[in-house]
Amino acid sequence: MAIWNLGSINADMVYALPHLPAPGETLAANGLDRFLGGKGANMSVAVARAGARVNHIGAVGSDGRWARDRLTEYGVDTRYIAEVEVPTGHAIIAVDAQGENLIVLYPGANHALDVRQLGQALASANTGDLLVMQNETNAQVEAARLGHELGLTVCYAAAPFQAQAVQAVLPYLDFLILNEVEAEQLQQETGLSAADIPVRHVIVTLGSKGARYLQQGCEPVDFAAHKVQAIDTTGAGDTFTGYVLAGMDRGMPMEQAILQANRAAALMVTRHGTADVIPDLREVRDAQF
Ligand code: ATP
Repeated sequence: MAIWNLGSINADMVYALPHLPAPGETLAANGLDRFLGGKGANMSVAVARAGARVNHIGAVGSDGRWARDRLTEYGVDTRYIAEVEVPTGHAIIAVDAQGENLIVLYPGANHALDVRQLGQALASANTGDLLVMQNETNAQVEAARLGHELGLTVCYAAAPFQAQAVQAVLPYLDFLILNEVEAEQLQQETGLSAADIPVRHVIVTLGSKGARYLQQGCEPVDFAAHKVQAIDTTGAGDTFTGYVLAGMDRGMPMEQAILQANRAAALMVTRHGTADVIPDLREVRDAQF
């Protein structure tokens, strides 16, 4: 089986600044680092690190070939990543000496995906494959509908959260994953509590409190987080989702996939960085918690 990920690809440009700039201020940075980012790319890397096959469907500009190459290097199938006439999505991340940050997100190529490209990619999918999306690209609804029609297991990570985006894909979903804040927002804006979401599998991640699994018609199951020294929670959610998907792809019962994802995400929060430092399966198995 395989996993198909319609996902964002970003260049995370991290500027080290003495302080965050005030409106109208011009400020010289002390340093610049460029990392591979975007929820989609992070998730693809997590799936690959967890040992499953993942086809990334997305777009970059001509300035983003390095990002596609990096994904290939990490074991992601990149043949369905198009090069478009729009700059690659990027995040301008300003970080001050205290670690406080300010982020400007430019979606760029992530919103320039041609729906025909999606159809061409999914034409190679097999019934029972998994399709995952997050809310950082265009064509989510088309993908969810097509995936559903093709008999794929359709998964959605509801981040960055928009109630409308969730509602638009909801009829096609087999699996929805969201964090605690997103679950609260969904309830406030639509009246749907996590337990009432009409999707077969729902996971609510709870940060340092772990995760809750809600299977339709069953009692919720809670998973406590592992006790670790958290130093950077960036990418924890994407790592968790990638590991759950890889487990599902391997035919694991959901509970077992969540146990593994919980370990992977706990290890992830002990590391600085995102896609480049997502742990592989061996590290996850060997981790001593
Ligand atoms: P992010 O946006 O930071 O990537 P998220 O908000 O999508 O994350 P969280 O609920 O914060 O998702 O975390 C996802 C998973 O990561 C949790 O379910 C848990 O398994 C793990 N995790 C997060 N924080 C901690 C922590 N402090 N200690 C141990 N595990 C953690």
